[in-house]
Amino acid sequence: MTHPVLEALKAYEPDLIAFRRDIHQHPETGFEETRTAALVAGKLRDWGIDVVEGIARTGVVGTLKGSRPGQRAIALRADLDALNIIEKTGVEYASQTPGKMHACGHDGHSTMLLGAARYLAEHPDFGGTVHFIFQPAEEGLGGGRVMVEEGLFERFPVDAVYGLHNHPGLEVGRFETRAGALMAASDSWTVTFHGTGGHGGAAPHLATDPTIVQAHFVLALQSIVGRNVPATTPAVLSVGHIAGGAWGSPNVMPSEIVVRGTARSYEPAVRDLLERRIAEVAHGLAAVQGCTAVVHYERRYPPLVTHAEQTAISARAAAAVVGEEAVSETAELRTGAEDFSFMLQKRPGSFMFIGNGLNEDGHHNVHTPLYDFNDRIITLGAAYWVSLVGRELNA
Ligand SMILES: [Zn+2]
Ligand SMILES: [Zn+2]
Repeated sequence: MTHPVLEALKAYEPDLIAFRRDIHQHPETGFEETRTAALVAGKLRDWGIDVVEGIARTGVVGTLKGSRPGQRAIALRADLDALNIIEKTGVEYASQTPGKMHACGHDGHSTMLLGAARYLAEHPDFGGTVHFIFQPAEEGLGGGRVMVEEGLFERFPVDAVYGLHNHPGLEVGRFETRAGALMAASDSWTVTFHGTGGHGGAAPHLATDPTIVQAHFVLALQSIVGRNVPATTPAVLSVGHIAGGAWGSPNVMPSEIVVRGTARSYEPAVRDLLERRIAEVAHGLAAVQGCTAVVHYERRYPPLVTHAEQTAISARAAAAVVGEEAVSETAELRTGAEDFSFMLQKRPGSFMFIGNGLNEDGHHNVHTPLYDFNDRIITLGAAYWVSLVGRELNA
């Protein structure tokens, strides 16, 4: 049995696939998605949808009112940007822009939301308002945060906001989500240890040595995770960069060592704890050796925390399309981060994963040079969005 909306969307499928492959061929990275945004805005206008452009530079919001009375409003969000990766898929519609690639499937996300917009514009059989958010710069630059800061929800008030992301490793036709923490907070930190430095061979006793501090610090980081973070919630601290001294001078003790790394967590309290303990451990260990530390902790993306009521609604919307047995509300925690989290901090909502196909069937993970969004799921994703609008705005 095929869902009637899915059946109707099949009529648009060739156009949608062509659109997805067009923007795949012309990937644009964060805040530079001018071509992509113009194409999206043009399509929405063609279908009679009101369009506002230029939110967070290249963001687009389309607004559609249903033909039946209703005061509720919801927002559906897709992302527009590509990554700085050299594509190696070899497909005929591969990136024509050297060094840039749609390796996270945002080309597919935008296309699925456009498919839903077209269907809803032609079948506005709902009561209330739908805002279609096409967000720039999800990859590291926080376009979602910038849209919120530029008054997204003041200009387009909504009762709930929803996001959708493809997931390689999950079968085509399956959906999964989770109430509460779903994706990690992703933060960066830099610790600089200062000592006197000196003659490492002839006079180490006359120097204060930041290399000793750095060595203790890297080990002590893991005891923050092992002894300060509650055993019931995950957290990750990893070092990605250590720099100090000069290659040609192994007998010179450096006066400065820089250690940089990442911090991932799911609970706001754990995030606070990581930030506090990294600084305490750095300052404490530096003091032991007569050195000093300068600590900089940068909060990048907050944890993505979904709301229970909207998560249940989104799961029912997906189940209406693919059947209850193909929808899970117990998705595993993702260690990746998403700036949709900034929108969920402002409005109730949820985030759904749609299967992009199993890895063993040749569907590579996101952010790899062989990844490709699976065109077979475009109509499934669009049908999910339409189903969700029906659940939210038909009551
Ligand atoms: Zn990504
Ligand atoms: Zn992504």
